[in-house]
Order: sequence, then C-alpha cells, then structure tokens
Amino acid sequence: MIGICQFCGERRPLVGAHITPRNYFQRVKGRAFYLEGVQLGPPGKAKRFQAGVKDKAILCSSCDNRFGVWDNYSYQVLDARKADAKFSRGKQAILLSEIPINFEKFSLFILSLLWRAAISNEPFYKRVEIGHHQSVIKDMLKNEFYDVAGFYSTVVSLLKPEKHETIMFTPYSVTLDGVAVVFFYMPPFKLMVKVDRRPFTR
Ligand SMILES: [Zn+2]
Repeated sequence: MIGICQFCGERRPLVGAHITPRNYFQRVKGRAFYLEGVQLGPPGKAKRFQAGVKDKAILCSSCDNRFGVWDNYSYQVLDARKADAKFSRGKQAILLSEIPINFEKFSLFILSLLWRAAISNEPFYKRVEIGHHQSVIKDMLKNEFYDVAGFYSTVVSLLKPEKHETIMFTPYSVTLDGVAVVFFYMPPFKLMVKVDRRPFTR
C-alpha cells in the first residue's frame, strides 16, 4: 500500500509495522501455529495472528528499520531467559535506572513504542492515548534525543502467574494519583511508562 509515512512524512510504500516488536509476540506464541485474538463485545470470528499485531498504514520500510535497531536492543534488556536474575534481590518491580543498560538506546525504544502505539489505529492499541506527548515524542525520536529529564521513565515488573506467558494483553493508558501512565505487557514483563512531567514518588 502506498501512503504517507507517519514518521518521515513522505509518500511511500508502507510496510506491515509491528508496534510491540515481533519477538514479544513470538514469546507468547511459542510453538503454536498462530496467536488467537480475544476481544470484548458481541461474538464474532476470532482473529488469528501469525506474527503478532501489525499496522500496515503507519510506516515506510526505512523508518520501520530505524525503529528495528531499538527494538532489537530491547530484546537484550527484556530478556526472558535472564528475567529471574534481573530481579534477584527479591524485588517485584524495578526502575530501569537500577539495572546496567545503555539508557539512551532503551529510552529511544520506550519512546518509539509509546509513539507507535499512540498513532496506530489498530484496535489492539486503541486504549493508548498520550495527547500532546505524541508530537513531543516524535520530535525526540527524529533527533534521537533521549529522555534525559525522566518525563517518560519506566518501571519494569516481572509477572509470574503461570498462564501469563501465553497471553499478550492490550496496552492501555491510565491515570494513577493524577499521573498519566501507559501499561504495556511484554511477557514475562509488564512495563509501566510514565507520560508525565511529574516524577514517580516512593
Ligand atoms: Zn518513513
């Protein structure tokens, strides 16, 4: 499909772009042939996904590839096999600043995840609303300017319920004590991303 790429603004062939990167859907899918979509509302034909949810109307291939570099880095940080070690001190949730990572790269990944989820019209992402942060974050991504000020800091928690690893819940925006956050489920992790100037308090 030819269309306007939402990132570079050029009229180009658009690709099937993942928002939550493909690898996280792959983890959920395991050895199954496909993922089955579940939705609220009147019964209809269940949607099946081979490679997770994609949006064919948002990105050209060169912009999608640019995001791919950050997506790939996120797999190293949110490594399912090393998950337990990251939480070894008995914590249920950690601030990302507490683990040794390339903060700039991971921050750009989080921002690109937020931005893609916010602009997508796919039903899976419809509960992600970030208002004016959408254009602020797009500018940050274009300039590869990561989140030094901590407006978009992230808390990662490890989910242990047995069945969770086979379910990818939809992400959603919510306000907690007046602070806007977006939750993303990327099994076995749950990410709470703050989309707000105000800091988290302990
Ligand atoms: Zn583009």
